[in-house]
Amino acid sequence: MNEDIAAVREDFPILQRHVGDEQLVYLDNAATTQTPTQVYDVFEEFYGTYNANVHRGIHTLSHEASVAYEEAHDRLAEFVGASGGREELVFTKNTTESINLVAYGVGLNELGPGDNVVTTEMEHHASLVTWQQVAKRTGAEVRFIRVDEDGHLDMDHAAELIDENTQLLSVVHISNVLGTVNPVAELAEVAHDRDALVFVDGAQAVPNRRVDVEEIDADFYAFSGHKMAGPTGIGCLYGKKHLLESMEPFLYGGEMIRHVTYEDSTWNRPPWKFEAGTPPIAEGIALAAAADYLDEVGMDTVEEREHELAQYALERLAERDDVETYGPSLGEDRSGLVAFNVDGLHGHDLSALLDERGIAVRAGDHCTQPLHDRLDIPGSVRASFYLYNTTEEIDLLLDAVDDARDELD
Ligand code: PLP
Repeated sequence: MNEDIAAVREDFPILQRHVGDEQLVYLDNAATTQTPTQVYDVFEEFYGTYNANVHRGIHTLSHEASVAYEEAHDRLAEFVGASGGREELVFTKNTTESINLVAYGVGLNELGPGDNVVTTEMEHHASLVTWQQVAKRTGAEVRFIRVDEDGHLDMDHAAELIDENTQLLSVVHISNVLGTVNPVAELAEVAHDRDALVFVDGAQAVPNRRVDVEEIDADFYAFSGHKMAGPTGIGCLYGKKHLLESMEPFLYGGEMIRHVTYEDSTWNRPPWKFEAGTPPIAEGIALAAAADYLDEVGMDTVEEREHELAQYALERLAERDDVETYGPSLGEDRSGLVAFNVDGLHGHDLSALLDERGIAVRAGDHCTQPLHDRLDIPGSVRASFYLYNTTEEIDLLLDAVDDARDELD
């Protein structure tokens, strides 16, 4: 293991734990990443010294909490290249809630019969199901850009589907099953040429590479804290300022209002307009610490390491004739995850046997049932890597797959 990785691993004490008698090998990072001490120390500091509600009090603790919470918005905006700062960055519960915010704010209000939403065959249920429901309620149509055999989007098909009736393009930046890095800037240009809005699901992208929402020219961009070394219970929605200003709120209640009478109410300015009730204060501040942590390591380093690990895993899996992998081939740009199946082994059996060896992977449809139907497989096993993983851990995975085969044969 090289020295840099060894130093990073020291920041994640959980990596030292055992599962039964086995040393933990954590390869389920596309579901949730581990959290470094620099991030969870924020909770001790917050609850030990300045725990208070935000925006509500003029006492010292409330002021300190408010400043830290508001500045956390600026930090996350900066992390994804949003020059408008906090006014363009809403804290939500997770990517799913961010998508729903756009679905309620734009989808239900703006769509109608004759309109369409264009999305892709590789979407996570978080967006696929949401747009399906918006379409049902509004009479709009949902269209799916085809995924080809190598796990890439068919760009000619995209250009055919996006037409003058398209109100919104919703595209996943990086697939959580195929690892494909979609050409989101190119797609945004096509959609904008047809006057459609562009929503990007960045749940698998922001943790793993430098994302610049302005370079992509996304109108909305969503991501989750728990997949980027941050805490659970917090996610983000970037939105262009003029869109957030004109959009209907998603949730109603305290904090999101400007003025209330018995007859009517007016709304606060973004992002507070979209953050009704007491928000996830400690989580937001801790997420800013996660952004600091990742920048300290360097997002280029994170991306490089993930690339190396994915390529190594693909190489090792390609040595076997009993394994099928999905997504772009060896050597192509893809993120740090590999979904695969081993002949004769059900994914759930394999992952249970791996767990006995302390190896955490995910098996199933990874919230992409239609994509698995499209690939004509009931499910897959997914090993996903983060900045603290090593090639030695991938070797352990492959050894354990061998043993699993022997055991079940
Ligand atoms: N989109 C993608 C591509 C994902 O991988 C995930 C989670 O796995 C989500 C959306 C949903 O994220 P969350 O569960 O944090 O809302």
